[in-house]
Amino acid sequence: MQAKIFSILGGGICGLSTAIALKNIGIRAEVYESAPQFRPLGAGLLLAANAVRGFQKIGIAEKIVARGRLLSTFSILDNRGRTITAADATTIGKKYGLHNFAIHRADLHEALAAELDPAQIHTGKRATGFSKNGEKTIVQFDDGTSRETDFVLAAEGIHSAIRRQLLPESTPRYAGYTCWRAVVDAGAVPQDFASETWGAAGRFGIVPLSDNRIYWFAVVNAPQNDPVLRHYGVADLQRLFGNFHDPVPQLLAQTREEDLILNDIIDLKPLPQFAFENILLLGDAAHATTPNMGQGACQAIEDAVVLAEELTKNQHPVAAFTAFEKRRLKRTRFIVEGSWSLGKIAQWEAPLLIFLRNTLLRLVPENLNERQMRRVLTTDF
Ligand SMILES: Cc1cc2nc3c(=O)[nH]c(=O)nc-3n(C[C@H](O)[C@H](O)[C@H](O)COP(=O)(O)OP(=O)(O)OC[C@H]3O[C@@H](n4cnc5c(N)ncnc54)[C@H](O)[C@@H]3O)c2cc1C
Repeated sequence: MQAKIFSILGGGICGLSTAIALKNIGIRAEVYESAPQFRPLGAGLLLAANAVRGFQKIGIAEKIVARGRLLSTFSILDNRGRTITAADATTIGKKYGLHNFAIHRADLHEALAAELDPAQIHTGKRATGFSKNGEKTIVQFDDGTSRETDFVLAAEGIHSAIRRQLLPESTPRYAGYTCWRAVVDAGAVPQDFASETWGAAGRFGIVPLSDNRIYWFAVVNAPQNDPVLRHYGVADLQRLFGNFHDPVPQLLAQTREEDLILNDIIDLKPLPQFAFENILLLGDAAHATTPNMGQGACQAIEDAVVLAEELTKNQHPVAAFTAFEKRRLKRTRFIVEGSWSLGKIAQWEAPLLIFLRNTLLRLVPENLNERQMRRVLTTDF
């Protein structure tokens, strides 16, 4: 019997992790990526214990961890640098596995791609839609070509063309805030922990990476696609965050204009369905979340592991897709909704609300924080 063809659309964290997980169970998937070539893009990523466990399951954790940096704590601070809450990665790591791991996106991407046969990654292939031919699916690309395939794994991110065709009403929703990111040379800034500072002007996150680099992000409330903010430069951010504690001003001063990346923060309202016979939505295409819990990529990696498990357990991939959906719908809904709510609270601007929030958070008993964290970090594999 001829081997069935699996096509993964999108060569991001989800698409590449899925291709590796499938390779491990003897399935070679072809990956179609819209970018003409893989270029070092993006800023940093924090990966939690569930993501590292996912990488362990697909046998690449050591290589990935070697490219990044383990951080001792993740703290939420006020704009004077005083702790609101702090999670100790060493203690958490003892319970849930390696935690609070930071890596440059480009390094992660490179490490994932290195696990695959270069011939199975097809760049310059933007999927625009699909049609059916009996049990087969024909995927169309924007270069005029098409590919007949048995199974489609749609991992083309939040703007997934395949999802738009399947569920036209599932459009991304704007969270109400926008985010600048950059990676800078750390210079003399000493830091071995990740932090996020919540002030009235917005939030400022600091995540040390390997090779003496620091990834920072700054989040402010704003209308969607604000034309004024599009033109903001480093000096404007210095004005907004100038009164934040050290080393925020230093990090901004060390930032080159051309390294600033700006994104409005969007997610997908939880979908009712990921599996559509021989087509499966994965990663951000299925359950894009706001970055407040740092779980979007972690969930994409979980998807890869769960799909490979279900393909092993079920004789027919369509049954595996249904089983995948059953395992993933509730978990990803919990993350998307939790992250959405956390973002709303973190972006409060009124001084009284900020005071009440910070005071209450400081009083939250450790076992309650731990219970929340357990639910995020515990996987079913
Ligand atoms: C500001 C910010 C900070 C974040 N921080 C974290 C964090 O700290 N930790 C964490 O876990 N997550 C974080 N996330 C979320 C994380 O980036 C995503 O969840 C993750 O990248 C999803 O991976 P993906 O492969 O599903 O989608 P994507 O990363 O979007 O990859 C999709 C890929 O498909 C390609 N593509 C797009 N359209 C097509 C098409 N039509 N045909 C073919 N290819 C296509 C794209 O070029 C891309 O390579 C953050 C997100 C943002 C916005």
